Formats: sequence, structure tokens, C-alpha cells
Amino acid sequence: MKKNERVVVTITDMGVNGEGIGKVDGYTLFVKDAVIGDVAEVLVTKAKKQYGYGRLMKLVAPSPDRVEPVCGVARQCGGCQIQMLSYEKQLEFKQNKVRGNLIRLGGFDAELIDSIMEPIGGMKEPFHYRNKAQYPIGSDKEGNLIAGFYAGRTHQIIPNLDCVIGSEVNMPILKKVLEFMKRNGLQAYEEQSGRGLVRHVLIRRGFRTGEIMVCLVLNGTKLPSAEDLVRSLREIEGMTSITVSVNREKTNVIMGSEIHLLWGQDYITDYIGNVKYQISPLSFYQVNPVQTEVLYGQALAYAGLTGNEVVWDVYCGIGTISLFLAQKAGKVYGVEVVPQAIEDARKNAEINGIENAEFFVGKAEEVLPEYYARYEREHDGETARADVIVVDPPRKGCEESVLRTMVEMRPERIVYVSCDSATLARDLKMLCQWGYEMKKWRAIDMFPHSGHVETIVLIQRKTM
Ligand code: SAH
Repeated sequence: MKKNERVVVTITDMGVNGEGIGKVDGYTLFVKDAVIGDVAEVLVTKAKKQYGYGRLMKLVAPSPDRVEPVCGVARQCGGCQIQMLSYEKQLEFKQNKVRGNLIRLGGFDAELIDSIMEPIGGMKEPFHYRNKAQYPIGSDKEGNLIAGFYAGRTHQIIPNLDCVIGSEVNMPILKKVLEFMKRNGLQAYEEQSGRGLVRHVLIRRGFRTGEIMVCLVLNGTKLPSAEDLVRSLREIEGMTSITVSVNREKTNVIMGSEIHLLWGQDYITDYIGNVKYQISPLSFYQVNPVQTEVLYGQALAYAGLTGNEVVWDVYCGIGTISLFLAQKAGKVYGVEVVPQAIEDARKNAEINGIENAEFFVGKAEEVLPEYYARYEREHDGETARADVIVVDPPRKGCEESVLRTMVEMRPERIVYVSCDSATLARDLKMLCQWGYEMKKWRAIDMFPHSGHVETIVLIQRKTM
């Protein structure tokens, strides 16, 4: 295959960024905007030895599963990748992706994998699901202020106030912010020159409470005429928190570390199940509240708690799974590397009056083995045990030392939550060589219209 060659390719798979994948005589081509089932004419834009990239020039035969995207800028915008594939087919694709990885990379028997699979958890309404949006602010060629999303891989802003996966409240808020800027002659930040004031608008909305937070990210310490913005935004029902964040760095990081309150509280409140959370502009919080409850509900079911168990939640973030499970467990220990997240976890435990959760700051691969060794020293050689261990690692999966210590703690059940089924398969393979077996698995769609898929697996200790 050579650059600038034109070929016809049948798309048979898709990557995590939603790009179509097809083969021509054994050579793999990645084609943005092509979906499973398409027969596409493709211009090769980059050719490596084993694989290359191509641009979709023409659909020779469109996939029968193609639909008209609901969003008018779905193709340009970097936010969604597979809106042009019917939602049903998206779910099928995601489930197959996980299944394939478990079989190919995990070395599990296809029959076993199929017999213990629970059908993918998709959304009934796969639109307007996100409770958080970060809109970059800029100006178009005519100098008009715009808000939207970055095109994939570049920082060109695709204007769009009406994102179909975001909250419906975003549009009126953004209109008010842009009108406020115009009225007061405020400039949008320009990445090239580093000039201009307003960089981003962060909007969060509590799914259960309807509380709304707006945070303007500024290339400066002060927002002129802030009271005018506050007056205007307060007309929006549910407005609870208006803040600015100071970010004067030339960086891709959106939020600055300083937050100044303009009006209301500096946080909003929301619930996952019965557990209440305070969410500040800088807090990590799951972005799809409907599916988060599905995922955590599944984790709870797999954990099989009766009320007395010792549970570990490794890679716990702000302790959302820990607190969810604490209500049904004897004791929950959470481990997380980001100190700020653990501060939030402790605060959230307190707000909810949860007293049986304890949190450790540090790398799982250090905290867990150290805890195990210390316990043994302090308990005359008796070793630490857990009844249930939940892990929810980042994409790279668990370090081997984490998996080893988990096995040494001899939990009856391990619940593995994963955002990357390739590393999941690798880790499961090890656990299953060390005395555990897969009992059930289920894919859950946390991010409709993207190529991402979450997986949850129940692993049980084999009885000897
Ligand atoms: N379970 C949480 C979030 C999990 S995301 C929830 O449902 O909300 C994965 C988390 O692992 C992130 O919070 C990340 O900061 C943390 N992390 C990444 N590497 C880690 C490591 N080596 N040790 C401990 N935590 C880590």
C-alpha cells in the first residue's frame, strides 16, 4: 500500500476512537468516519508497513446500520465518533469488542465467555446524558464570539451550543455567557497569542437535584462586570454555583487550580443511589449518571454483600464505589493515588454519615503490598484477608504486584471494572491462573456515540 493510493475497502471493525477498520489483502486500514458494514472508497493518507490510514472519499455501499446523525456537526466535532451508526449496532459492536478481547487476549474459551455473558447495558435514551460539559470559547473569522467543541485532534472550535449528548440547559447558559461577553466587550482567549480573557465555560448539572454550576475559566484573575453575568445566569432555574477559575498558563489543561466564588455556593450536590456528593468545579465525578447507577448496581450485585464483609475498592477515585458498597458491607477500604480525590472521598463519607469506610492515598502497587506486609508483622504472621475486592483501574490495567497481593488476600469474589477490555483480558488471564475463575461479565455503555465501553466482571475463588 502506498500513500495517495485509492482503494475500496469493506469495514469490518472499529477502533476505540470510532475509526473504521478494514483489510485489503491482509493490510489493515484505519478510516475515520467509516463504520462497520460500509464498503468505502478510501484515499490512503499514511502508509506504514503493516497498516495505514485513509480518508473516506466515497461510500460505494453504505452500511445497512448507518443512520443520519442527530447532531448537525457530528462528523467535524471531536466529541462523538460513531453517531452515524445505529445505537443498536453500537451496542452490538461494543459487546463484540469485549468478547473478542476476552477470547483472543485473555485466552478464554469462546463457549465459556458466551455462557457467562450478561447482555450489554445500553441506554434507553442515549442522548443528553452528560452531566458535565466544557465548552471552549473563541471567535470566528468575522470576529463573532463562538462556543463549541474542538474538532478531533486539533483545537479548531466547531461552533455548537446544542450538543445532543449534553444537558439541554447548556444552550441557554452559553447564550447568556456569550451575550454577557459581547455586552461588556470581553474577548475570548486566543491560544496562538495567549491574549484574550475567557477560555472555557464549565457547566455541570446534578442529575437528581437539578442543581447547576457554571464556572468560567479565565486567562486573568478578575472578571469585569461579574455582577452582570451573575444577574443574567440567575435567571436559569436551578442555578446554584457561579465561579471563575484562573488559568493563565499556555496549556491544554482546561481548569486552573484557583477557584473564586462569584455567587451561590462553590459546589453543587448530587446523588448516586442514596449517596450524596458535593461536586466542586475541580472534582472528578462520573459524567453519565444514569449508567453510573447501572454500573454500580451491577458492582453491588456481583459483590454479593450480606452486611459483614471486608471490601477493598482499589483505584477508588472519590470513593463513589466504596461509599455505594459501604452501605451493605462491614468495612470498606479505598485506595487512590490522587490526594485531592481522597480528600473528597473522606468528605463525602462524612456528609453521608458513613463510618465504615477508610481511605489510603498512594499507588495501589505500593499501598496494597505494604498493607499486606504490615498486617502480617503486626498480627504475628497472620495474613490480611478481604472478602471482596473491587478494582477499577485506569486504561493500563493493574500492575502485576496488585494482582498478586489481591490473590494473597484470598477474597471470595473479585469485581473487576474496566474501561479497556484489552488490559482487562490480560489481567483476568493472570487471576485465572492463580486460583480464580470468571463467573459473569457484562459490558455497560457509559459513553453512547463514542467507541468506549466499560466492562464489569465477577471473578470467584475456586473451591479446592
Ligand atoms: N472507581 C472510581 C474511578 C476509577 S478511575 C469511580 O467509579 O468513580 C481510575 C482511578 O485510578 C483514577 O481516580 C486514578 O486517579 C486512579 N489511579 C491511577 N493510577 C493509580 C495507581 N497506580 N494507584 C492507585 N490509583 C490510581
